[in-house]
Amino acid sequence: MKRVRLLVFNAALGVLDYRVPEGMTIEFGSIVVAPLGPRQVLGIVWEPERLSGKEVPESKLRPLLEVMPAPPIPERLRRLIEWTADYYCAPLSSVARMALGSMAALRGGGTTTEYRLTGTEPARLTPQRAAALDALQHEQGSIRELAELASVSEGVLRGMVGAGLLEPVVVDLDRPYPAARPAFAVPQLNDEQRAAADIFVGAVTERKFAPFLLDGVTGSGKTECYFEGVAEAIREGRQVLVLLPEIALTENFLRRFEHRFGVQPVLWHSSLKSSERRRAWRAVVLGSAQVVVGARSALFLPYANLGLIVVDEAHEISFKQDDGVRYNARDVAVMRAKFEKVPVVLASATPALESMQLAEAGVYRKIDLVGRYGGAQLPDIQILDLRSEVPERGRWLAPRLVEAMKDRLAKGEQSLLFLNRRGYAPLTLCRHCGFRFQCPNCTAWLVEHRFSKRLACHHCGHEVPVPEACPECGTGDCLVACGPGVERIADEVAEILPEARTALVTSDTMNTPEAIGDFVAMAEGRAIDIIIGTQLVTKGYHFPELTLVGVVDADLGLEGGDLRAAERTYQQVAQVAGRAGRGAKPGEVLIQTRHPAASVIQALANGDRDAFYAAETEARRDAGAPPFGRWAAIIISSEDQAEALSAARAIGGTAPNLPDMLVLGPAPAPLSLLRGRHRFRLLINARRSAELQKTLREWLDPLEFPRGVRVNIDIDPYSFV
Ligand code: ADP
Ligand code: ZN
Repeated sequence: MKRVRLLVFNAALGVLDYRVPEGMTIEFGSIVVAPLGPRQVLGIVWEPERLSGKEVPESKLRPLLEVMPAPPIPERLRRLIEWTADYYCAPLSSVARMALGSMAALRGGGTTTEYRLTGTEPARLTPQRAAALDALQHEQGSIRELAELASVSEGVLRGMVGAGLLEPVVVDLDRPYPAARPAFAVPQLNDEQRAAADIFVGAVTERKFAPFLLDGVTGSGKTECYFEGVAEAIREGRQVLVLLPEIALTENFLRRFEHRFGVQPVLWHSSLKSSERRRAWRAVVLGSAQVVVGARSALFLPYANLGLIVVDEAHEISFKQDDGVRYNARDVAVMRAKFEKVPVVLASATPALESMQLAEAGVYRKIDLVGRYGGAQLPDIQILDLRSEVPERGRWLAPRLVEAMKDRLAKGEQSLLFLNRRGYAPLTLCRHCGFRFQCPNCTAWLVEHRFSKRLACHHCGHEVPVPEACPECGTGDCLVACGPGVERIADEVAEILPEARTALVTSDTMNTPEAIGDFVAMAEGRAIDIIIGTQLVTKGYHFPELTLVGVVDADLGLEGGDLRAAERTYQQVAQVAGRAGRGAKPGEVLIQTRHPAASVIQALANGDRDAFYAAETEARRDAGAPPFGRWAAIIISSEDQAEALSAARAIGGTAPNLPDMLVLGPAPAPLSLLRGRHRFRLLINARRSAELQKTLREWLDPLEFPRGVRVNIDIDPYSFV
């Protein structure tokens, strides 16, 4: 190659052409450094005909500076990047950026010095040194990383090095991960599991694109089945990607993985330390990372040699990214499998309607696990009508639920209360003047958090201390909490069952792997009687002594204009119900609701999943909603309300008039103010036959807006706020 065209990681720069200097070897996908004015840019060598741009005359071409010592981005990943950018109407450069690690990862090689405790325990210690000794027991890292972990200054740690309490260790930055052992602990599968596992093993061996929907009831042991596919890939020297919906679930997964394969898999997520990130990225691109477990972002890594993709809890909406590139990792995972020519397993106990539809249409092969592993029965589900079974004044748990909890406590069994609302109360107001605490940046109430004694916005993170007096009328001691959050339920439990040992499980309390690990160990060791939690506790966990699940407010998810609200309620309640009775003792689930006749609640009560899917399918068909039609949203935002509105009107005013596309709006978005930006929204409902993305591009590309206006396209949106 004499001249090359680069994809650079800044959409504003467009496409750049360069000359390849004598002696430099380049291929498509090479990651290179190029001069740009006085600066340098990083780029990927791309097929020139696939990047539209003006050809620069030969004489003006500047030479590339350097090729990074990393394997080129493979063609199959370049095609996936293009597909993703095209489908989600996102800049190619933003998608491509997700494939790269850090600059250090691209360079590779070298060693670094990390520090760890020497084990010396001096007789006298400053409080800071004592805190560091405590916090760094099993840690190793740079001084900076350790200082952050221990919440002490770097100076304190340097002093500890001098005093012989910390010692330096030279580490190879690219040291390989220990090898997973496919034969380490092979489980005894039951017949149903065996049949499923054999199919996955066969598919891995065949090395062809094959999408599967693994539909197994809670407690059926789906993981054990797809682990056999993972084992086969490892035996064949191929890599596996396992996507999990959120980091909080990885802890549990890691334990199960280690149990089966003898080592931990390679982790990938956004909060890795920089040294871990670089090591993981190198191992991924060189093929030595056998199994990578991660959240969405692991999907675009340049695997050398992928053999299988698994998306666990595939129905979870957190696979949809709602900022930056707005892609759905579940759907892109299937596309990735297609480009890589490998099988992909979508595993769930409550598959998304879209996935069910694709299975029905024969696009996905559906594999069912209908029984719980080990003969455990599915729990008995009862509806508790809050209109007739009224909780005591100022309380949220109905008498029947309280009785059931008392009963479990007396028997030494565990209970779980589920309420998908963090904090103490969703709204705080002044008893005297009616003042309500609202977020200054968002159309949202501030949520009281009693633990941290703060009022917080769950959308933008704005926080203020709970004031002593009303900021409006100045009356002291007059604030009242309205409605329950999990913290309030925990208080209620402490009042009615003071002897019970409780655990509060929310993203506020379970924010480190250690905290989650401790919680799981305590729950398994029966050191907890009652678990109170948000959606974090609804899935993944297996506590055999847990026999009662109380759903505090099943109606919560049904409010709001979300078109998947019923489906989500069904999934959440079915998942949390699935935590009950997983061992030898039968489980019971009590669902508190004010709408016992709603079809979701009825389907849950009768355990009639098919009826729910059938009704939901019809409703979606009638509405032209996915999977029968398609939605897209255009969100226009600006710090200046008038500017946002006029841009939204300009977009609305130029909307194409097509028979297979309906354009609604512009209207203020339900969260019309978010993080200080005013938002307007257009919704597009299209038939499947419509060329949605092409139409959107032709419509929006020619329009120009003031600098402060942002226009975001959301294809197949999940969040309708
Ligand atoms: P999944 O969510 O993967 O369907 P579950 O958490 O529902 O799995 O699995 C239920 C429990 O049964 C888990 O603790 C799992 O380890 C255990 N289990 C499932 N299948 C087997 C098996 N074949 N051998 C031993 N334990 C199993
Ligand atoms: Zn806010």
